[in-house]
Amino acid sequence: MKKIQMVDLQTQYFKIKSDVDNAVLNVLESAAFINGPEVKSFQSELESYLDVKHVIPCANGTDALQIALMALGLEEGDEVITADFTFAATVEVIHLLKLKAVLIDVDYDTFTMDTEKLKAAITPRTKVIIPVHLFGQCANMQDILKIAEANKLEVIEDNAQAIGAEFTFAGGRAHKAGTMGTMGTTSFFPSKNLGCYGDGGAIFTNSDELAHKLRGIVNHGMYERYYHDEVGVNSRLDSVQATVLRKKLPLLDGYNEARRKAADYYDEAFADQPDLLTPVRADYSTHVFHQYTLRILNGKRNELQKFLAEKEIPAMIYYPVALRKQKAYFQDSDPADFKNTDLLLDQVLSLPMHTELEEEQLKYITDSVLEFMTAQQH
Ligand SMILES: *Cc1c(COP(=O)(O)O)cnc(C)c1O
Repeated sequence: MKKIQMVDLQTQYFKIKSDVDNAVLNVLESAAFINGPEVKSFQSELESYLDVKHVIPCANGTDALQIALMALGLEEGDEVITADFTFAATVEVIHLLKLKAVLIDVDYDTFTMDTEKLKAAITPRTKVIIPVHLFGQCANMQDILKIAEANKLEVIEDNAQAIGAEFTFAGGRAHKAGTMGTMGTTSFFPSKNLGCYGDGGAIFTNSDELAHKLRGIVNHGMYERYYHDEVGVNSRLDSVQATVLRKKLPLLDGYNEARRKAADYYDEAFADQPDLLTPVRADYSTHVFHQYTLRILNGKRNELQKFLAEKEIPAMIYYPVALRKQKAYFQDSDPADFKNTDLLLDQVLSLPMHTELEEEQLKYITDSVLEFMTAQQH
């Protein structure tokens, strides 16, 4: 059996090697390394895939979030509400821009923003909501957009983990994750569902005005060459990454399907385990399983992780510490307001999840988890 990895980028690469190698060599020969035609082509191909008016490529997913916030012309101390249970980048950029991060609890089943807590957190200084489509599934955009509209707030979807997922509104309209809010952001970090071979990111919007602004901000606040109208940043997707992404974008739906198939295998194997909760698939969103995250109810999560490690099965805790308790982002809080986040920190365990999992590997992983769980019951 092939060695089991959390993410197997190498096997995935070898399947498309000659195609990708040729494309990369072409970029090297063209010497159009920055803002070349490959970037432009990727941009418009992603626009059609997502059915969104504008894609603005940038250097990574963290920049994408920062630049999206910069485009809104916020003032120091303006409040941005986001989830306490997410990757740090979401909160980091809020602090970096001297805005006030207001962290709220998540829903226990979907790991995404609790919309009742969202309503309660809104104040006259609230300007933006950042829902995070965590682990591959959309937050409840129907309710979030309604709350945003009622309170005149902007919505930036952090879509670093759910590219290709689809949200269906009550009337039946379906939209791709990242295209429903004021803006959406994503990351092309190698291990993301659409990953390049270095760093990359993008911002999505249907607003012409915001798209213009964003294109200036990523390029030193420059709308006309050497005229700087505002303080911007330098944040670019390079041509080598763009050409890799052009090869991988047509494969994204298939990649997400492969992840779903692995998730189905896990779900079935764990269906009768009273102390294992498998990921809940919300009826409003497809799930692209950036992570397959179990909740372990018998208090033995760390022991299970150790047991699997001894069998050379990697399993990761995403995320072990609440952002509100991190030194850098500390927020005074009442534990009663963060019951779900605090439970999840102790219960979650993500199993290997990628596009190249083989049945033999899945069987070995699930048998090993079941072996541990059964031993605990006796
Ligand atoms: C990966 C990730 C980011 C940051 O993306 P980078 O490209 O690594 O900067 C932001 N938010 C979430 C939820 C992520 O998973």
